[in-house]
Amino acid sequence: MLDFTAMTIDGRDAEAPGRISVRNPANGAVFAEVPDAGAVELDAAVAAATRAFPAWAATPWAERQALVARIGEAIAGEADALARLLTREQGKPLAQAQFEVTAAAQWCGAIASMELLVAVVEDTAEHRVETHRVPIGVVGAISPWNFPVLLSIWKIAPAILAGNTLVLKPSPFTPLCVLRVGALLREILPPGVVNIVTGGDELGPLMTAHPGFGKISFTGSTATGRRVMESAAATLKRLTLELGGNDPAIVFPDVDVQATAEQIFWSAFTNSGQICVATKRVYVHADVYDAFLAALRAIAEAVPMGDGAQQGIALGPVQNQNQYERVQTLLAECRASGATVIEAGRAPEGPGYFIPVTLIDDPDESSRIVQEEQFGPVLPLIRFTDEDDVVARANASEYGLAATIWTCDEARALRLAGRIEAGSVWINEALALSPFAAFGGHKQSGVGQENGIGGLEEFTNPKTVTIRRPAAQAAAA
Ligand code: NAD
Repeated sequence: MLDFTAMTIDGRDAEAPGRISVRNPANGAVFAEVPDAGAVELDAAVAAATRAFPAWAATPWAERQALVARIGEAIAGEADALARLLTREQGKPLAQAQFEVTAAAQWCGAIASMELLVAVVEDTAEHRVETHRVPIGVVGAISPWNFPVLLSIWKIAPAILAGNTLVLKPSPFTPLCVLRVGALLREILPPGVVNIVTGGDELGPLMTAHPGFGKISFTGSTATGRRVMESAAATLKRLTLELGGNDPAIVFPDVDVQATAEQIFWSAFTNSGQICVATKRVYVHADVYDAFLAALRAIAEAVPMGDGAQQGIALGPVQNQNQYERVQTLLAECRASGATVIEAGRAPEGPGYFIPVTLIDDPDESSRIVQEEQFGPVLPLIRFTDEDDVVARANASEYGLAATIWTCDEARALRLAGRIEAGSVWINEALALSPFAAFGGHKQSGVGQENGIGGLEEFTNPKTVTIRRPAAQAAAA
C-alpha cells in the first residue's frame, strides 16, 4: 500500500472516515486507498477556498504568474516519481506517463505567460469605458481518469492565475498523482488556494450542487456533463464542460499510405484509445482502403501491449473494469452483427484489463461502434468515395470535438475543414494541442473552451467600468 494518500484542505493533510480503493489496471490488484470525502470534508474545502479568496484575488497578477510557473517547475522536479505512479494507477506505458507529466509542467509555464488586458472600449472627452476581467470566486474542478495530471492542471493553472481559489476532485479511479500534486502545491501557494478532495460517486454531485462554487469546470463524459449542467442550474454557476467525442479521420487517396497509417494508428491507440480527441472512426477513400487497412493491421501486429511499467511496452490496459466491459460489449455486438472483426494485436493473458488492438473492417454506418464513443483499442474503418457524402457522415453525430483530414491537396483540406462540425480540425497531423490554442467541443462535446486566452477568460467575469468625465458633466450643467 502507498503511504502518501492524504487530501489537501487549507494547506494541510486531510482525511475522511471512509476509504476508496485504487487498482492497478495492469493486474486488477488494489494497491492504495484514498479518503472517501463526503459533505463534511467538501464543506471544509469550500470554506478554506472561500477564506483564501480575497487575499489571493488581490495578489498582483505578476506574483500569481510567478507562482503558477513555480508549480510547473515543481512538477518537472518530481516528473519521474509522478510518471511511475501514473503508470501504476492509470495503466499507460511509462513513456506516455512521462509525456503527460512533462506536458503538465510545460502547460503551467505557458499559462503563466498569459495576461488578461483591460479592454478600453471608449476613451473620449466625455467617457472612458473599460472592461476588466475579474475572478469569479471559488471554482469546483472535476477531472477524468484518462489524463488525470494534465487535465487537472488545465483547470488549476488558469483558475488560480485569474485570481480564483479552487477545490479539485480527481476521478476515483486515478486520484493518486493528483493528491501528490496537491502536496507539492502546499509548498508554493497560500493555504486554501488549491484544495484537493477525493471520493466516490456521490462527491461529484455534491460539488455541482454546492452553493459555495461560482463555477464548475468539468471534464468527463457527455452523459455526466448533462447531469453537471442540470445540477449547476440551481445556482446559475458558470460552466466549462469538456466532454466526449467521436472524432472522424478522413483519408484521401493522394496520401502516403504507410506514413498516414502510422500516424492514424497512434492517434487512435495512444493510451489504448482512451483520449477524448483520439481518432474513433476512419473514413478511407475506396482507392486506398485495402492498402490502408493492411498497413494499419501490420502496425497493430507489431506493437507490444502489456504492463506499462515494463520496458518496451507501447500499449497498456484499459483503465477500469467498467470501461473494459463496455468495450467488450461493443466488440460482441460487432461480431454478432456479422461485421469483420480483425483482432490484429496481441494482449497478455491474466487479470489485467487488456483488450488487443482490434480493427473493424467496413461496419455498417449505423452500428454502435461507428456511432458511439468506444474509448478503447478498437477502431472502425469505413470506405467512402464522395467528398460531400463523407462530410455528411462525419457530421452526422451528436459529438463535435475534433477531426483529422489527410491529403496533400491543401485547398481540399481547408475546404473540408470549413465544413466539419468540430472544435478542432487537424490536417495531416493529430492530437496537436497547444496551451495557446482554443480547445473545446461543438454540439454535445462540450460548452465553452479550455486553453488560449479564451480559456483563461472563462475563469473570470467581465466587469465594465464607465466613467463620465468632468468636462462632460460641466457641459451638461
Ligand atoms: P465520467 O463522466 O465518468 O467522470 C468524469 C468525472 O466526473 C470523474 O471525476 C467522476 O467521478 C465525476 N462524476 C461522475 N458522476 C458525476 C456527477 N453526477 N456529477 C459530477 N461529477 C461526476 O468520465 P470518465 O469516464 O472519467 O472520462 C472519460 C470521458 O471523458 C470520455 O467520454 C472522454 O471523451 C471524456 N473526456 C473529455 C475530454 C475533453 O477535454 N473534451 C478530455 C478527457 C476525457
